[in-house]
Amino acid sequence: MKYVSTRGEAPTLAFDDVLLTGLARDGGLYVPESWPHFSTGEIASFASLSYKDLAFQVVQPFIGGAIADADLKSIIDAAYSHFDTDEVAPLTELSDGEWIMELFHGPTLAFKDIAMQFLGPLFDHVLAARDEHICIVAATSGDTGSAAIEACRDRNNIDIFILYPHGRVSDVQRRQMATVVAPNVHTIALQGTFDDCQDTVKALFNDLAFRDRMNLSAVNSINWVRIVAQIVYYFWAALKVSAPAGSVSFAVPTGNFGNVFAGYAAHRMGLPVEQFIVGTNANDILVRFFESGIMEIEAVVPTISPSMDIQISSNFERLLFELYDRDSSMVARTLKAFRLDGQFAVDADILARTRKIFDGGRYTDNQTRALIANHYAKTGELLDPHTAVGLAVSRSHRRNSSTPMVALATAHPAKFPEAVEAASGVYPGLPAHMADLFDRDELINVIPNDLAAVRGFIEDRAKNADRIGGAAP
Ligand SMILES: *Cc1c(COP(=O)(O)O)cnc(C)c1O
Repeated sequence: MKYVSTRGEAPTLAFDDVLLTGLARDGGLYVPESWPHFSTGEIASFASLSYKDLAFQVVQPFIGGAIADADLKSIIDAAYSHFDTDEVAPLTELSDGEWIMELFHGPTLAFKDIAMQFLGPLFDHVLAARDEHICIVAATSGDTGSAAIEACRDRNNIDIFILYPHGRVSDVQRRQMATVVAPNVHTIALQGTFDDCQDTVKALFNDLAFRDRMNLSAVNSINWVRIVAQIVYYFWAALKVSAPAGSVSFAVPTGNFGNVFAGYAAHRMGLPVEQFIVGTNANDILVRFFESGIMEIEAVVPTISPSMDIQISSNFERLLFELYDRDSSMVARTLKAFRLDGQFAVDADILARTRKIFDGGRYTDNQTRALIANHYAKTGELLDPHTAVGLAVSRSHRRNSSTPMVALATAHPAKFPEAVEAASGVYPGLPAHMADLFDRDELINVIPNDLAAVRGFIEDRAKNADRIGGAAP
């Protein structure tokens, strides 16, 4: 299996190079040259597999010989041993044919762990084989940072630098990052906004001399390997609920379009899916697109589901590539127009193809709070605000009540305790492994919003680790 860029001007790469490269050099995103495909019989044969064994079956066709099967098995075993249940993504039936899949049983309580926990041991394996060291630099508005830190901590061939906006992440999110004591973990509390953090990271990657010298690597959701890890739980859910005999629908609280694109990939691989419902908060660029065929940027509005406070859903480019029948010059042209004008439109036939399987719904903060309160009153269970948006649209936009519907629960309620308490009157407690989070010592490195200052900090810390440019000890 080889990987091509959605914009057609970057070299074709193997799986391990795609892992380390992240963004393609032409500004595009890597996608598989063709979709692996499972027959109905093959999917049926997965029904009794454990999550780890299923992960091996689903991921293996993407590896293309870059990693030996036995090594891949050990990597998957390591990846999913830090979840608080062997099921990794347990499903509960709320009412007849209405399901919730909990994706927050990993170390940092959000679904990002499912991909990041896989990335950690995978990086280790690939870097050790090549005798290389990388510096991961990433910006976070909260959840990605802690998931990446947990996945990469204490790994010899990696230094990880996470930029977050000083004073603008929740206490739980900050503590999940700033209390980690590991020699290769470095957090940066940037005196700026999340956009400043992202701009700084982009500027670091665009400084090619710095990028090459430090061997910078990216773990944001444009990294193809994160999508691969997320495809697994769509098969897992469908097998529990209906597949391969019948189809299934999914409702996905969406920001960067990474999670739901993994579902679409599962569908392309043979999984019978009737409908994907994209749930958004007031930042509804995707919903407006599904309604009108016009993608148009507006200002970001802060909400109680901050991990979806996004205007540019980077992974949508991968879907566009498929909608345009893999015409990379069309994708490149469209995305260029989008950058210049802040909008693009697709033809009626492309919109019709999109709508065949995608729907979108938006929920205001008030509606989301009401759903959390109502769900708590009915079931005694608390939902985090992102999950509540997903469940809400799974009900309002469901096309066919005889097709099972799986709503994805993307975060544990304790990750957003203030919002959950305001909605339900109940303060969600942290699970046992994090119960002492507020007693741990914090190390906060406040850095001015200044590129040279950030670059200096990274050079300093990575150098102190004394491994740059050479082999790991
Ligand atoms: C990241 C995140 C999302 C959005 O996922 P995308 O893959 O960016 O669409 C939704 N909910 C939570 C809790 C998240 O952390």
